[in-house]
Amino acid sequence: MSAGDSSAATATNFIRNIVDADLAAGKHVQRRWSGKPGLAAQQLAGPLDPAKIRTRFPPEPNGYLHFGHAKSICLNFGLARDYAGRCHLRFDDTNPEKEEKEYVDSIVDAVRWLGFSWSDDKENNLYYASDYFDWMFACAEYLIEAGLAYVDSQSADEMRANRGTLTEPGKDSPYRSRSVEENRALFHRMRDGEFPDGAHILRAKIDMASPNINLRDPAIYRIRHATHHNTGDKWCVYPMYTFAHPIEDALENITHSICTLEFEDQRPFYDWLLDHLAEGGLLQRPVPQQIEFSRLNLTYVVLSKRKLIQLVEEKHVSGWDDPRMPTLVGARRRGYTPEGFHLFAERIGVSKADSLIDYVLFEDAMREVLNESAERRVAVLAPLKLIIDNYPAGQSEECVVHNHPFKPELGTRVMPFSRELWIEREDFMEEPSKGYRRLFPGNMARLRHGYVVKCIGCDKDASGNVTAVHCEYLPDTKSGTPGADSVKVKGNLHWVSVEHAYPAEVRLYDRLFASPSPGSGDRNFLDDLNPDSVKLITAQLEPALKAAKPEERFQFERHGYFVADRFDSKDGSPVFNRTVTLKDSWGKGAK
Ligand code: ATP
Ligand code: MG
Repeated sequence: MSAGDSSAATATNFIRNIVDADLAAGKHVQRRWSGKPGLAAQQLAGPLDPAKIRTRFPPEPNGYLHFGHAKSICLNFGLARDYAGRCHLRFDDTNPEKEEKEYVDSIVDAVRWLGFSWSDDKENNLYYASDYFDWMFACAEYLIEAGLAYVDSQSADEMRANRGTLTEPGKDSPYRSRSVEENRALFHRMRDGEFPDGAHILRAKIDMASPNINLRDPAIYRIRHATHHNTGDKWCVYPMYTFAHPIEDALENITHSICTLEFEDQRPFYDWLLDHLAEGGLLQRPVPQQIEFSRLNLTYVVLSKRKLIQLVEEKHVSGWDDPRMPTLVGARRRGYTPEGFHLFAERIGVSKADSLIDYVLFEDAMREVLNESAERRVAVLAPLKLIIDNYPAGQSEECVVHNHPFKPELGTRVMPFSRELWIEREDFMEEPSKGYRRLFPGNMARLRHGYVVKCIGCDKDASGNVTAVHCEYLPDTKSGTPGADSVKVKGNLHWVSVEHAYPAEVRLYDRLFASPSPGSGDRNFLDDLNPDSVKLITAQLEPALKAAKPEERFQFERHGYFVADRFDSKDGSPVFNRTVTLKDSWGKGAK
């Protein structure tokens, strides 16, 4: 992937520039790392951090990862790889109500599948934010002691009304001037379960008149009587996301905390919080730096969690791993490759500009990788029988075929040739259109890797449909033998021997949506579903394909890239999913 690598340096420039500058300035060299997350006292007792930088991928385990997450994973793990750093996989599970184990497992699988690792013999950087609740609570207590946080007892409505608007400042809460003692006592009573949900809330004391609404005394801890999947009933107060996330980064020694643009307005609070906690000696300096980039949007694809859930729940797809879904489990089943995701991520790069990426770019990255790696096989998707009248019945012979056109190291295989072959229906025309070079009565064409044949006619059923094509072969023209090309022909057909063929289920997948921006304007995105996004056929495959292992990928010559379905393929009877066609044929009538 040299092409991808060379463009990578320019494509991800803006974040790489920041990292380069930080490294040049030696910004992070004094950081200490105890080997695991912790407050400053613990970290400072450890050795210098061996990682030059630390990044993290912090999913909430409340759904399946999608193509957008893949961009973030490639970016964060890629930076750590390229800069002798570390990337942590952190489950952001501070919200007690939402997370599920099923999602944790699937996220772990997906990141591994993309080829990244958070652990080796020295470090295992897989973390759960909920393991940090004690530290987060200590941070909140510190803010109270420093006069930087207070317990507010206004109702939710009052708080909303007093928050102000973009043009008007907010109003101070009547509880804002509570004493440190009173705040401490109330906060502890909140923790001890003395109050119902919503009775009080802990807020940072910043500035109710700030032009940035996120700095108008944001809520940092709330009462929530809920059982947490990790901590059980230990807590009935939980940190707000905007408070928890910066602290998680700092506890893990993250140097560059990369997130999507919607968190840009939160950055001042991120900095405010970490700076005060470092001032108070709770966190090590330098504190992490938040850097925002624009999220991935792709034409013909929806990535919103709500819409993906709707597709699954209303059964527009067969599940989260339906090969048409833009999830990583779906991508894997579809046959897309991890290397293709890497190449795509490098090509699109990282910027702050909102962008809508053409789906063709994604497919092209997949094609490029598969063209290099996938062995070629022959498949007839719309079979029509070809009978070679002058070839003895019951006889067969072997044709030697290269597995890859420019990778001889991938070897050869044999394909049996016999009197009756399957060819593509479109490779015969009784009355040829202008320029047609394949089989029509009187015309000659080459059966690839086999002989030149001359078409002599066809059989038809009562309604005039062609049921078989007849031809005669020229015995001296077998590919690879001397003089084979003495007869010049223009058409070159692929074929599979009828007697030896493996008839298999093949699923021809296409785009799930027919519109480049599903649901744009006032439209319901479901109205933009592509009615032809999957077609099930029985294809005739060359016999070697019978041995395909689940997830083995091939180019079916002339047709595209296909993968043996990882779940539905039984030993000795694989079924295949079309990953992508050979060329972009969308909207050009080809299916
Ligand atoms: P939620 O609405 O539940 O927060 P989310 O898509 O933000 O959904 P997270 O689990 O919070 O899901 O995301 C994990 C990481 O993936 C975050 O750092 C987020 O910025 C990043 N991410 C999510 N969607 C995209 C996207 N479309 N492009 C790039 N990065 C994304
Ligand atoms: Mg999120």
